[in-house]
Amino acid sequence: MTAHHADTQAATGPPTRAAARDIPASDLFEDEDALPVVALTTPPAAALGPDLSQYEEFIVFFSGGKDSVACALHLLERGIAPDRIELHHHIVDGMEGSDLMDWPCTEAYCHAFARAFGMRYATSWKVGGFEGEMMRNHSRTAPIAVPGPGGKALVTGGERGTLNTRRKFPQVSANLSVRWCSSACKIEVGARYFTTHPRFGDGRKRLVITGERAEESSARASYAGFERHRTDRRDGKRTTRWLDHWRAVHAWTEQEIWSILERHRVTPHPAYWIGLNRASCQFCIFGGPQQWATMRFMSPQRFRRIAELETEFGTTIHRSRCVNEQADRGTVLEGAKTAWRDIALSRQWTLPMISPDWQLPPGAYAHGCAGPT
Ligand code: SF4
Repeated sequence: MTAHHADTQAATGPPTRAAARDIPASDLFEDEDALPVVALTTPPAAALGPDLSQYEEFIVFFSGGKDSVACALHLLERGIAPDRIELHHHIVDGMEGSDLMDWPCTEAYCHAFARAFGMRYATSWKVGGFEGEMMRNHSRTAPIAVPGPGGKALVTGGERGTLNTRRKFPQVSANLSVRWCSSACKIEVGARYFTTHPRFGDGRKRLVITGERAEESSARASYAGFERHRTDRRDGKRTTRWLDHWRAVHAWTEQEIWSILERHRVTPHPAYWIGLNRASCQFCIFGGPQQWATMRFMSPQRFRRIAELETEFGTTIHRSRCVNEQADRGTVLEGAKTAWRDIALSRQWTLPMISPDWQLPPGAYAHGCAGPT
């Protein structure tokens, strides 16, 4: 561990589960009531998932959050060679200059994780990102950039589609048509990758892995643990695209998630060291008072931009409170006052990905977040 890392951990103090639980869940995330936590019912046999020996390649949609990290590590524990695993990260802000939503460190963190474990790494994004989609004004949705053959980015789409106006933030809902960020910036981007890159049309079996967990919400609990991916065309006449979709940690508890990170001594994303229970976007629409207060403290200029956009649109993210009112109700998380603030806001990742003296971050079990589905 570098001196820098050691200093950081000393600054936060040794995190404990008891301390983490002191943070009221409703102060962290807003959607606790809308998407209630449910009991797990998945039988252990189903949790074993598919026979992995039949697949050519494994594509993990990788946000850098604990659940996607657990998915990648689980593949290793199931005996999959790292060079058959692609970690695929969607850049929510795109690569055209917007910095409205993402944690600055996330892309570097994801890339560093892939390097540390010898996995392939790829990215894709909506051109113009979240902000471009939100600012649509009688215009078409933007193209999508995906890796093409040889790793060169291919920009596809954007010519057809209906003229539309958004000019408001996504709404906090399990309904993806109003919470449009998940579909526009992640789900449709991933689907376009599979329908664009020629290798997926070779008929070989590939497994797509995502990290939704049943424990997080009733919406997520209703998801299948294993199914054909939505872009699968194994029976297609012109294209044969064989893609299965495995929610590899669907039946896992949060404790099981942290345990696998601990077994592999993976340094958790800085968001957990700040004290949050989810990595997600830095300014995720699901943030509660504690998160908004912390983000206003950490990134005042970017926070102000969001507040100004709410005023400009005449619509707030929360159904009745603007982000300043949300932040006024919360208190700044202690981790935001430590060296983790600068680490989270840096676009470089210089810490070891594998921590010899692994510790549970304060955001672990600071629960109540169901988050997006
Ligand atoms: S739901 Fe939150 S984390 Fe997901 S894209 Fe929207 S703002 Fe980002």
